[in-house]
Amino acid sequence: MTENRSTCPHCGDRLRKWRVPLDTTWSEPFFLVCFNNDCPYYKSGWRWMKEQYGQEASYRYMLNPATGAASMIPVWDDSAMRELIIEEAEGGEA
Ligand SMILES: [Zn+2]
Repeated sequence: MTENRSTCPHCGDRLRKWRVPLDTTWSEPFFLVCFNNDCPYYKSGWRWMKEQYGQEASYRYMLNPATGAASMIPVWDDSAMRELIIEEAEGGEA
């Protein structure tokens, strides 16, 4: 099947390789992140952040490929953090 393709447990979308920003405490070079804007995890995050912190923000599902630990990255809009997606060479995508 697709053993090399990690998918999001919340929406089933393929996780994207995402370059970890240098100004963070994470030591890994990249994480796997769900960038699906229809992901229920991401969508419910908006309401949760509003209720908990009164902030217009959400978060996306993130998997640390080195440890297998699931976490999240905070985002403030649909396009946030997308510039750090590492596009993998893959047939079919123009
Ligand atoms: Zn997802």
